Amino acid sequence: MGGPVPQRRDLSVLSGYHSPQVDVEVRLNTNESPLPPPPQWLDELRAELGRIDFNRYPDRDVTELRADIAAFHDVDPAQVFCANGSNEVLQCLLLAYGGAGRVVAVFEPTYALHSHIAALTATGVVRGWRGPDHHLDLDVVDRVVDESQPIVTFLCSPNNPTGGAETPQTVAHVLERAPGLVVVDEAYGQFAPTSALELLRSGAPGADRLVVVRTFSKTWSMAACRLGYLIADRDVVDGCRAVVLPYHLDAITQAAGRLALRHVGAMEERVALITEERGRVAAALGEMAVESWPSDANFLLLRPTARAATDVWHDLLDASVLVRDCSSWPGLDNCLRVTVGTPVENDRFLAALRSSLGSSA
Ligand code: PMP
Repeated sequence: MGGPVPQRRDLSVLSGYHSPQVDVEVRLNTNESPLPPPPQWLDELRAELGRIDFNRYPDRDVTELRADIAAFHDVDPAQVFCANGSNEVLQCLLLAYGGAGRVVAVFEPTYALHSHIAALTATGVVRGWRGPDHHLDLDVVDRVVDESQPIVTFLCSPNNPTGGAETPQTVAHVLERAPGLVVVDEAYGQFAPTSALELLRSGAPGADRLVVVRTFSKTWSMAACRLGYLIADRDVVDGCRAVVLPYHLDAITQAAGRLALRHVGAMEERVALITEERGRVAAALGEMAVESWPSDANFLLLRPTARAATDVWHDLLDASVLVRDCSSWPGLDNCLRVTVGTPVENDRFLAALRSSLGSSA
């Protein structure tokens, strides 16, 4: 018998989560930092490469990097687990806690990878909807968690792709109500005024079930490195370590992360620049024929009011500006998401958008 070997049948309904990587001058589609890491970081990394024993496996326990991350957040190193990007952190969580017969709760519209990874790990997904302002509706959250008793409740704060952050009070409420882990994905946490880490550090009720996930991909300008981590109770860390592949985090990534943490000042300057630009872009959008929502992240969600989002997306691409077309995502009819870039990039985007909205095609 010939022909292709059949894949897992439950995977055929899943499509990957990809943004087209087309060659453009202004790339505002995947929420990376528009700036490279500080030049000193690169010099330090080059020097560090000479000290790595490339014939040996890396430190399997990621000891030094975990200690440095713990010091940065004022937690215990035993509360830190690192992996190749926060997506791999999420995957480890669901390998450890998900699986057949278990369900996770998500609140749409939200980061597609939460339900996607759940499906990859044969975990069921229960969905609730956010309120009209795209924030969590606590009545909906209560009903969903009461009815489905999820093993993991995913919150995304600031929420991708809608931009708003939830207050620690809201997270505390979910923590008291939900029976399992409450995973707060803070991939954009540095752009927001508050963090669920406050609840972890203060030992709020249920804090032993709270997991905060962060990444070096955004503010740290290190998306190419693939480094993310979680902070949680040490039992959760042990659960993730039990499922991750041996030596999963290579020595270069471990060194790169440690060196990045020496440049907190540069990272904070980037956050300040992006936050200021976010305000400027949001104000400019307020003058155009689009609906937009307040953002605590490094991107903005917008909905053209008089034109089809996909047509606008094409017009922007013709002007060599790439944004994310979210119009086919659940609850995001006719929406586009734009990453905040450098001032020059943002000007290019605003000019192209103005011209697209002005045209009557
Ligand atoms: N969480 C959220 C909410 C994200 O938007 C992203 C990036 N798109 C990630 C996690 C994954 O980031 P990374 O794997 O690069 O750390």
